Amino acid sequence: MPKQWKIKVILILIVAAAVITAGIQLYNHRHYRMLLTAGPGVTKVHMLSDYCSGLKGTMADTHVFFLKGKEPGGKMLILANTHSNEPASLLAALIFLENAVVEKGTLIIIPQFNNSGGRNTRPGDGYPLYFEIQTSWGTKKFRMGNRDASPLDQWPDPDVYVHYPDKQLLSFLDIRNTNRTWPGRPNGALMEKVTYAAMELMRTEKVDMTVDIHGAETMFPVTNCIVAPEKAIRIATMTSLTLKAREGFDNHVEPSPSGFRGLSHREIGDFSDTLPFLLEAPLPFLDQPTGPKTVKLLLDGKDPFLLSLAKKNKLFVPYDESGWPMENRVGQHCSAVLELLRQFSRKSPDRSIQVKNVPRYAGIVKNGVGYYYHNPATINKKDLYFN
Ligand SMILES: [Zn+2]
Repeated sequence: MPKQWKIKVILILIVAAAVITAGIQLYNHRHYRMLLTAGPGVTKVHMLSDYCSGLKGTMADTHVFFLKGKEPGGKMLILANTHSNEPASLLAALIFLENAVVEKGTLIIIPQFNNSGGRNTRPGDGYPLYFEIQTSWGTKKFRMGNRDASPLDQWPDPDVYVHYPDKQLLSFLDIRNTNRTWPGRPNGALMEKVTYAAMELMRTEKVDMTVDIHGAETMFPVTNCIVAPEKAIRIATMTSLTLKAREGFDNHVEPSPSGFRGLSHREIGDFSDTLPFLLEAPLPFLDQPTGPKTVKLLLDGKDPFLLSLAKKNKLFVPYDESGWPMENRVGQHCSAVLELLRQFSRKSPDRSIQVKNVPRYAGIVKNGVGYYYHNPATINKKDLYFN
């Protein structure tokens, strides 16, 4: 074989080895079955496709957990992993799922709302494929996802995404972003079906309030806040003020802009009787000027570049050597959801929702997130769900 050919064959073999190695890792990530443990409060489990048949058999279908109290009351829907690269939302939702006992009214929890996005990743940014949370019985492993649904599930992207029904022109990528496809439609793109199914759930179940949990860059002003439209802003404001006064962490209210379409905090309120709220907590991992996107950065939020930017007043949140640990973010989310429930119940006593056994900010910061996850070896198998 001539020398040139030998070099070509060797190069092809090297490329093939790299493609196969990466391909196996990405295949395993996409098919990794994450454990969801249903706690004592769970009374029934549906699939999102029960509200839009077009989701059945797709990677976008996902579990919907109902926690119904003995006494009738109002209903709250909790959405996590709308953006699957903002995992404090999932971790907070799982604390509710494993621990909440509802005494009055109903909680409905969708821990992996954009389930396709949870199976997507961002190799170009060096995202980790998984992360683990320490518990007293070992580690609990989670799939790290992406902001958008996987192109393996929804493809091709249009040149321009025309929002339904407003016809506003949005970025092509946002057709795979479940915080731009509200209110959705049953015959649209797969992510429009996901949001349509959630709208149907809210309309048929007569859900009073929906909380969509997120995380945002420290260099982005919409962080450490509750975003709410006009009809929900009073409850959001009372919640924000109470959190700051009683629990000592920063929070403010951002009004939902009426001219920017497709967002949960806008469309849910416009297309149903449900009051929408979107929660943001700081997520240094998402900022652009950071070091490598490691699991450590994801969990402790410590980054030297952000620290130097904080000293130049370039961040929208307080930031020092202690970073922004996961337990603080998860604690903020849990407290915000509980306070929204309390404020809503005070204002609408006939639709009151009473929940116990969910920790607040101080407890989660003190004990860590893993403290509230139960050992699956001690749980009845019928209460273990894999997705
Ligand atoms: Zn988000």
